[in-house]
Amino acid sequence: MKENTKDVKKIKLYKGKKKKTAEEDAAIQYLQAQYEKIVPDEIKTFKDLPLSQKTLKGLKDNNYNVPTEIQKQAIAYALQGKDILGAAKTGSGKTLAFLVPILEILFCKKWTRLDGVGALVISPTRELAYQIYETLRKVGRFHDFSAGLIIGGQNLKFERKRMDQINILICTPGRLLQHMDENPLFDCSHLQILVLDEADRCLDMGFEPTMNAIIENLPPERQTLLFSATQTKSVKDLARLSLSFPTYVAPHEQAATVTPESLQQSYIVCEIDEKIGILWSFIKNHLKQKVLVFMATCKQVKYTYDLFCKLRPGVSLLALYGTLHQEKREKIYNEFCRKSNVVLFATDLASRGLDFPRVNWVIQMDCPEDVDTYIHRAGRTARGIFGKGEGLLMLLPNEEKIVDDLQNRKIPINKISVDPSKVIAPQRKIEALLSDNTELKQTAQRAFVSYLKSIFLMKNKDIFNVQLLDTDAYARSLGLIVPPRIRFLYKYQKNHTSKQPEETENNNDVVEKLKANVINNDTAFEESESEDQKVDDQVQETKNSKSQKSKKDLIKFDFHNDDSDEDDFLQVKKTDVDVETSPLQEEKTKSKKKAKPITKAAVAKKILKRKIKVNTKVKFTEEGEAIADEKKDVKSELAKQFINENVGGIDIEKAKEVLREEDKYDKIRFREKVKAKHREHKRKLKNKKKEEEGDKDDFGSQSESDGPDLSWLPDPDKVYGKNNNSDVELDSNDDSNRSNTQSDDEHSEEEDEKYHRPTKRKLVESRGIPQESVAPRKMKKVQDLSASLSVQEAEALAMQLLRNKS
Ligand code: ADP
Ligand code: MG
Repeated sequence: MKENTKDVKKIKLYKGKKKKTAEEDAAIQYLQAQYEKIVPDEIKTFKDLPLSQKTLKGLKDNNYNVPTEIQKQAIAYALQGKDILGAAKTGSGKTLAFLVPILEILFCKKWTRLDGVGALVISPTRELAYQIYETLRKVGRFHDFSAGLIIGGQNLKFERKRMDQINILICTPGRLLQHMDENPLFDCSHLQILVLDEADRCLDMGFEPTMNAIIENLPPERQTLLFSATQTKSVKDLARLSLSFPTYVAPHEQAATVTPESLQQSYIVCEIDEKIGILWSFIKNHLKQKVLVFMATCKQVKYTYDLFCKLRPGVSLLALYGTLHQEKREKIYNEFCRKSNVVLFATDLASRGLDFPRVNWVIQMDCPEDVDTYIHRAGRTARGIFGKGEGLLMLLPNEEKIVDDLQNRKIPINKISVDPSKVIAPQRKIEALLSDNTELKQTAQRAFVSYLKSIFLMKNKDIFNVQLLDTDAYARSLGLIVPPRIRFLYKYQKNHTSKQPEETENNNDVVEKLKANVINNDTAFEESESEDQKVDDQVQETKNSKSQKSKKDLIKFDFHNDDSDEDDFLQVKKTDVDVETSPLQEEKTKSKKKAKPITKAAVAKKILKRKIKVNTKVKFTEEGEAIADEKKDVKSELAKQFINENVGGIDIEKAKEVLREEDKYDKIRFREKVKAKHREHKRKLKNKKKEEEGDKDDFGSQSESDGPDLSWLPDPDKVYGKNNNSDVELDSNDDSNRSNTQSDDEHSEEEDEKYHRPTKRKLVESRGIPQESVAPRKMKKVQDLSASLSVQEAEALAMQLLRNKS
């Protein structure tokens, strides 16, 4: 019976599967037959496209009924198997333009989990990758493919195990390369479709070596789709991807504007120190709106966020930048998506592709690097079919030149002016906050330096000129009364004056390269996270070898000397920050075959070589004698020998051994200290007890060592003469006695712990102190006696005494 059921089940299953497969085959054949007949212009709804029922249902369930222009064209050509260069305005629906073909192509190829990675989507930022992944999950939920999100900052081990089961992989470049390099389960040899979203960004200098390495690992006979609002047409880029004749799909090429029509754009020109006040006033005037504010660097975002939170504008504030922890980034991203009255401060990390719903305003507080950056930043609003929004660009007088470039690129932007009466700069409050809060002050200093660095590194020197900035005014506007030192600039200027003009030109090339790196690192460069360190190193190596030629007359820019040690440009250290150098340094650089990345150990070695003496802190007693720091005295023979040898460099093994030896002595010293503390504590307790008992004595029972200083009292011996009054207990202040008492060394103290302390009387006796030397008790008795008499009795007593005297 049991067997029978099993058989039936088997048969049923077999039959069902066969039937399904047959149906599917037929459907696939039908769909594929339609592909060549698609005329994009005739398509009205998604149903007019030859799409599988699963995809159509996924689209319908998410209210995607009418395809946008880019979707019509890109889906049509992609289904026909063409490589695509897709260019369409921000918010025009490019995501579905590549997700739908991915689902369809894999569906028609009857892709299963066992077939491995069939489609790869690369995004320049984690947030964008996450967004694409979410859209794919929604639209592709009726398909049987498995999708995976592979981004930095996530659990690498977890990702590793799952890698072999993923069919559609959404990833960022750094993490993908890491899997390619390290994960034996990663196999993309059957890849069918490669998609680069924000393709121009993926292919730019920041990702160049990573992307080259990735592309090398991919099978060449794949279909490639590139999408961006600012598409690359560079032959070099296309060649890198082995794209010889891609179909250029640009439905908005003839449009009057390159930005969405429903996006209102304006700009203001202001002085650098007015920016904070204008931003503050803007936020205060738009409390019921969703605002996205772009700034040049992470440190500026962090400072403005910290500061404004303290100033309490009356609206939720958020900050999103690359150096934040991944979990936080995700939380902030989701929060900004969800909320409607909120201000998000962000770096260009948020400028590409992110589809935050219902953003009312995009403020560009710092001038964008170029027109493309402007388009992407502004494009975070006015998205989708009905989206509306406004953009405001803040420009310094010198930066106004960028407006010509914007208008030449068909961006309709108008100048507006700010009503000064409506600008309320909370200058005093900011200064007060900073004077009260060193941490905030430091953040402000870092923001200041990082902004100047970002301007310094900009390629377009016509627009961005750090020399023209009123840095003092800028510092003041941030609440810094004393402007921080701008060492990198002084250093640059020093080198610059000794340079020839043609060398400066050469330098510009490198600064350009560097800028790309800075922007990448500051915003979203995946590989900068610790987990991706290895990739980083590879990236570094490739970059080093690539930039050898241009490096001839350049040195590594030493940001270690800068005020802000771990500023946004920290990663610049990793990516060869080069500026001009003196001929001497030039020689050095030439002689180096391959520049190594600077490690901490290398820096330490450098310092050792230079024989830089580190300052030491010496403590003094009140008398001005130096107090030896016993912690710094080495005790072990090994350590002494180690110091005497004074070998250059760092022998970590030896140092460890020495530390272990020294540790033994440290433990002994520590034990002694603890013991001494316990003894002191016990002694104090005992004294306290005695004090409580000792109300009988007037002076309590404190020992000399910790009793009150009574040295100012006259010598009782001299005052009262010697007598043998046995009531007296203690003379507190005979110098010889004190020294005796003080010589109560550890031994006597230890004994104290075992036995009761001798009574004060015994002490006094044993020290040979004449007992009559303390008379106050006697005096007190007399005083007491007279005090208890009545006036008459006192008079009588006085008379008697007088009589006796006479
Ligand atoms: P892009 O990548 O071009 O900047 P997105 O793909 O992020 O644009 O899409 C922008 C917005 O438009 C998203 O919110 C998306 O849900 C919406 N959208 C895309 N396609 C359609 C469509 N066919 N119908 C309605 N809304 C759409
Ligand atoms: Mg997009």
